[in-house]
Amino acid sequence: MNKTVMIIGGGVAGLSAGIHARQAGYKVELYEMNPGVGGQCSAWKRKGYHIDNCLRFLAGCQNTEPLYEVWRNTGIFPDDIRLFRDPYLCCIEMNRNTLHLWSDLERARKELLKAAPEDKTALSTFFSNVAKLQRASIPCESSQADAGVIKRFHAFLADPAVSKIKKDYSSITLGKYADAFKNEAVRTMFRSYAANTLPALTLLQDYALYASGSAAFPAGGSAVMISRMRDRLETLGGRIYTSSRVQSISCAHNGIRDVTLSDGKKIKADYYIWAADPYSLFFDHIGTRYLDPALRAVYEHPDKYPASTGFQVFFGIDTDEELTLPSGLFIFPCEPFTAAGRTCKVCRIRLSDSDVSLFSRERRVLRCSIPESASQFSFWEQLASDKDAYHTEKYRIGQEMRERIEKRFPALKDHLVILNTCSPVTFSRWCNAYQGCYKGFRCLDGRADHSIPNTVRHLHNLFLASQWLQSGGGLHSAVLEGKFAVQAIQKHEQGRR
Ligand SMILES: Cc1cc2nc3c(=O)[nH]c(=O)nc-3n(C[C@H](O)[C@H](O)[C@H](O)COP(=O)(O)OP(=O)(O)OC[C@H]3O[C@@H](n4cnc5c(N)ncnc54)[C@H](O)[C@@H]3O)c2cc1C
Repeated sequence: MNKTVMIIGGGVAGLSAGIHARQAGYKVELYEMNPGVGGQCSAWKRKGYHIDNCLRFLAGCQNTEPLYEVWRNTGIFPDDIRLFRDPYLCCIEMNRNTLHLWSDLERARKELLKAAPEDKTALSTFFSNVAKLQRASIPCESSQADAGVIKRFHAFLADPAVSKIKKDYSSITLGKYADAFKNEAVRTMFRSYAANTLPALTLLQDYALYASGSAAFPAGGSAVMISRMRDRLETLGGRIYTSSRVQSISCAHNGIRDVTLSDGKKIKADYYIWAADPYSLFFDHIGTRYLDPALRAVYEHPDKYPASTGFQVFFGIDTDEELTLPSGLFIFPCEPFTAAGRTCKVCRIRLSDSDVSLFSRERRVLRCSIPESASQFSFWEQLASDKDAYHTEKYRIGQEMRERIEKRFPALKDHLVILNTCSPVTFSRWCNAYQGCYKGFRCLDGRADHSIPNTVRHLHNLFLASQWLQSGGGLHSAVLEGKFAVQAIQKHEQGRR
């Protein structure tokens, strides 16, 4: 008889684990606490507008990449898939200059060197390193946590130039790296790309994904992506139970005995895959004695393994008039305003309009975001204990942003409708995300890669699948770790034969 795998958490990692477990012949039952699956990869309607809360870009959209095949296997890339690519990773308008990190590296290099000749050496190194990083493939075969020292050494030797770039840029924060540029516009663009506590490698790696064509927005965005993964799992015979929160887990004899849902129902399975945020598994459910040292290090040394989150406001654009708005991430300096106790001197906006199946001419959406580090979670958590104060503050920030956007784009005056505001608390409440972080940790320990095993110490039938198992996180980490969790179960079974 087929063995049963119980999956806890219906985000991308959980759905991927379910698909791979069915393909490996296991019976699959997936339990998700929310009314729908998708987790952080979510989208919804508000006032007739479509809000895609997740996807800016998906890595693995080039059909020559191994990652493309992994996505294809989850059903998200049908033969007629349409992919939208931003012309640039980000763009800044400052001091009468408009600078772009064009996907075309040569075009961007020329543009930035012309605007910032004082940074010639640093910019040339930057572009040369991004070009080299395009060669770095994302390991899709098996978990890097299982690779022994010799295999890792061979991987290092396979492309020493890329290994060195990864090492160098994961030894310095984005903030420090940016500060070395003399030109104010370049410095501000690099600083504003992501949370400054993250390694500089974040910027270079994302840019390399754009430049190589790996990064794109699949038509339909997060909503279609998740519905395809759910359909794939159900078509394969997996069963999905939504509004089913795992309340407690009981351990016995070096394994999980059973799992209790919030309605009191007990579930027994041969194997359990925890595909929710691992922090809650160890800190709320089974205890930290089962914590792998590699993951323990992530929680104990947030300075070396920074994670990030952010505050976002979604605006509906209430006009179908012709507007000349930039597409992609656009940064511009603005009158300072405060958010989470810090002063913001720039606005970061992103227009969603390329996929007209989601964003019609009358229903365009503008996302304005402020990158935050995990340490800012406590500000929001404290504020959220007073419901009124929390909502007032979120709305205030939204209004401040609106004023600045309208000042820069007068054509938008009286046409911006605040649809939604999301703080790190939103992600913590919605998905149980550790410190409201929606991207897993990054490495600032000079190693660039830090992988967590899919197995759990001392518990033979419990496995992990989550973006939190590999540095960088993101959707591709989640889909891969779902696959690796099932491989770990198979390896365990082979070991017992
Ligand atoms: C604003 C935003 C923008 C992003 N942009 C991008 C992007 O452009 N590109 C990219 O690659 N990534 C992006 N990400 C990150 C991406 O969404 C995540 O990396 C990915 O969705 C994580 O998947 P996961 O399955 O590991 O975790 P999650 O999505 O967190 O899934 C965990 C699931 O477990 C459920 N759960 C938790 N506890 C329990 C319990 N006790 N019982 C049952 N179920 C439980 C949760 O409800 C959730 O559904 C973004 C995320 C956000 C929020």
